[in-house]
Amino acid sequence: MVEDIVIRDHVFEPYISREELDVAINNVAERINTEYKASKEVPIFLITLSGATFFAVRLLEKLSFTPKIGFVKCSSYASGMKSLGKIKMALEPTIEISGKNIIILEDIVDTGLTWKYLHDYLLKSGANSVRIASMLFKEEAYKETAIIDWYALKVEDKFLVGMGLDYGELGRNLPTIYKLKTT
Ligand code: 5GP
Repeated sequence: MVEDIVIRDHVFEPYISREELDVAINNVAERINTEYKASKEVPIFLITLSGATFFAVRLLEKLSFTPKIGFVKCSSYASGMKSLGKIKMALEPTIEISGKNIIILEDIVDTGLTWKYLHDYLLKSGANSVRIASMLFKEEAYKETAIIDWYALKVEDKFLVGMGLDYGELGRNLPTIYKLKTT
């Protein structure tokens, strides 16, 4: 049985199991495979550091084609649980994106600010199209209008850790997703 954990000053309770997540991620991979099977276009995958790396590995190994893969890093959360509300580009895309069709890989879409920022930034930088596949989607917190092309699971509007999601850089390696325990 998976138990509550303590990270720094907070208790987190088990929320999504590795098995449930695996099934949902495989499902996203299958949908992407189906969509690009008949297409001559091979999209480029841009993994957002650091949180999406765990999701990206699981998703990318299930693809039936071999795309180019690069990294990008934005920051919206400080070291706590609150968004700063302002996005910074911390690492420019590590791969040529001009004229390319991009699929961003994200750990979680919350308010959507990061997704909107990256979307607009990549188009302005010459990308041909920008889509997104996110591991998790906090639909209740989402403030943008752009659709989330693919997501594995919808989640509550609670602070989560595990599978790449951190609390002050801790907790990323947890295979289960935990949510902040509120009493
Ligand atoms: P947004 O810009 O959509 O509001 O937030 C997206 C980013 O905020 C994510 O890439 C992630 O880094 C961070 N974030 C949003 N919700 C959570 C959460 O519940 N837990 C953690 N650890 N990070 C989150």
